[in-house]
Amino acid sequence: METNIKEVVSVLNAPAPHMVGDGFRVHNFFPSGYQINMDPFFLMDYGAKIEFSARKEPRGVGVHPHRGFETVTIAYHGAVAHHDSSGNNGVIYPGDVQWMTAASGILHKEYHEENYSLNGGPFQMIQLWVNLPAKDKMSRPKYQAIKQSDMPVFTLPGNGGKIEIIAGNYQNTAGAASTFTPIELYNARLNAGAKANFSFPKHFNTGFMVVEGNIRINGKETATVNSFVYFDQKGENISIEALENSIVLVLSAEPINEPIQQYGPFLMNTEAEIHQAIEDYNQGKFGYLEE
Ligand code: MN
Repeated sequence: METNIKEVVSVLNAPAPHMVGDGFRVHNFFPSGYQINMDPFFLMDYGAKIEFSARKEPRGVGVHPHRGFETVTIAYHGAVAHHDSSGNNGVIYPGDVQWMTAASGILHKEYHEENYSLNGGPFQMIQLWVNLPAKDKMSRPKYQAIKQSDMPVFTLPGNGGKIEIIAGNYQNTAGAASTFTPIELYNARLNAGAKANFSFPKHFNTGFMVVEGNIRINGKETATVNSFVYFDQKGENISIEALENSIVLVLSAEPINEPIQQYGPFLMNTEAEIHQAIEDYNQGKFGYLEE
């Protein structure tokens, strides 16, 4: 019998969706939907697959600030155009990941990419808010645009599919993104019948988002598309089997374990720092970005 298994605590269904701007219909699994500890992942907005009708004027969310953390946007269907006040811009296409470090503060806007908007079609996206440790919260903003074609890949044996390593390290293959704290983040793309194994330290907060298909975990629980599998902090090893062609976003990271104060788009350690963020934003210290 296999030992040291990281057991499933719960398989969570998608909470009711809400709109972010007019372009993102998201299910917030945490911190609102479920009060689970996924530190340093503070927030996960899961945009289940939906169809947007064609529209000339792209849908999206206008200029807004962030401070104290990173936004990580992972695309599965559709395309998102992004601009920020540090002068960075780009388009996130299916399979791509944008890792934006807001840190000391940026303004940005996120819209459906023009051609996608003109044609409409399926749209599926995830945005994570990754907290930063206190010592890095006021560091310089930065931006990592990771194309799917540049993503380090571990190929599963027997035509089983592949693990795309966004961050961390899987079977000695290092991920694409640099991170401030230890974070494992993968897109596991498994063909029907394929199996994959994962091992994470006991104390890492760990969850699997089923983006497509249907999987069995540790030979026991099953989880279908749009559900989130939350694991314990006792064991280390997880095995999954794809019951049909499946995509799973694998999240596992070392908790930062520092006090958190959130106010809207600001994520700091103390109330005083929140007041400072609001003041700095009002004084234009986050830069300028055209609507
Ligand atoms: Mn944003």
